[in-house]
Amino acid sequence: MKNIYFIGECMVELRAMSAATLHQSFAGDVYNSAVYLKRCFPQVTTSVVTALGQDNLSKKMLERFEGEQINTQLVFAHDSKVPGVYYIETDEYGERSFIYWRNDSAAKKVVDFLDADALEQLCQGDMFFFSGISLAIIEESAREHFWKVVTQLKDAGVKIVFDPNYRARLWNSIEETKEQYHLAFTLADITLPGVEDLTTLYNVHSVEAVVEYLEPYKIEEIVVKNGPESVVTKQADTLQSHTIIPVTNVVDTTSAGDAFNGVYLGARLSDKSISSAVQLAAKAAGAVIQQPGAIAPKDIFQLAMVE
Ligand code: ADP
Repeated sequence: MKNIYFIGECMVELRAMSAATLHQSFAGDVYNSAVYLKRCFPQVTTSVVTALGQDNLSKKMLERFEGEQINTQLVFAHDSKVPGVYYIETDEYGERSFIYWRNDSAAKKVVDFLDADALEQLCQGDMFFFSGISLAIIEESAREHFWKVVTQLKDAGVKIVFDPNYRARLWNSIEETKEQYHLAFTLADITLPGVEDLTTLYNVHSVEAVVEYLEPYKIEEIVVKNGPESVVTKQADTLQSHTIIPVTNVVDTTSAGDAFNGVYLGARLSDKSISSAVQLAAKAAGAVIQQPGAIAPKDIFQLAMVE
């Protein structure tokens, strides 16, 4: 049985439904990817590695993970912190705005829980995934230990997967981000950048420029996402452009990239070719953006995937 670990943060989502009503759910990039992977590839053991608190919301979040058949063996319970929260509001023109309370979240402490036992378990994995958001929330004092863990996993033969997913507000400076991303690209076996994410950081404006920028890192598999435009992949010396069928009824693009990542990696772990993995991933992302919120209702999502 194949095995993948996603490290990062899942938050409490509060969505404004009307002036007096908030809808509460759970979301966060690595969790979203894990959910869509597991829904499409139930045979792949899919684990989230994070820290929650000991409060009731943390317990509900854990139950939600389990409800999605996500392995929670490496979901740790911090004794004094609680999960991060975000509020999302959509205005009359469809523009979304967010407010976050995550600077002191339990997830920021996740690396402190990565002891020898956790490392031994992670070494059994086929893939270890982290994103630019995972890197941004890890405390500066824990970075050295984090990179040591990633290096040990790579040495043990676990494929290291990185999605840059750049969120400027989570970083102190562009220089700090670049320094961390350099380490990530150096260790990555697979990377799934979006063009937009890298534009601000490296002044690259096209899929071709992204591929060229990443050339010196010798990454085994590069998958460049570009919204409704084509997806470009590079493995060894094979460069492929994959056509995406644009969705006309876009309701909410939240987690399009996360769904894409999860399903792509699930497909690759299930021995599918790069082009069929891209097609499945794009289908999943296309289904997700026709629903509000990060996590589409399971029945609607499953139906869209079999159509
Ligand atoms: P992110 O959410 O990380 O910014 P993108 O916007 O590049 O990522 O979208 C990720 C994937 O979602 C794309 O590669 C594509 O497969 C799919 N996607 C995004 N927007 C559309 C769209 N309008 N129509 C169809 N597919 C889309």
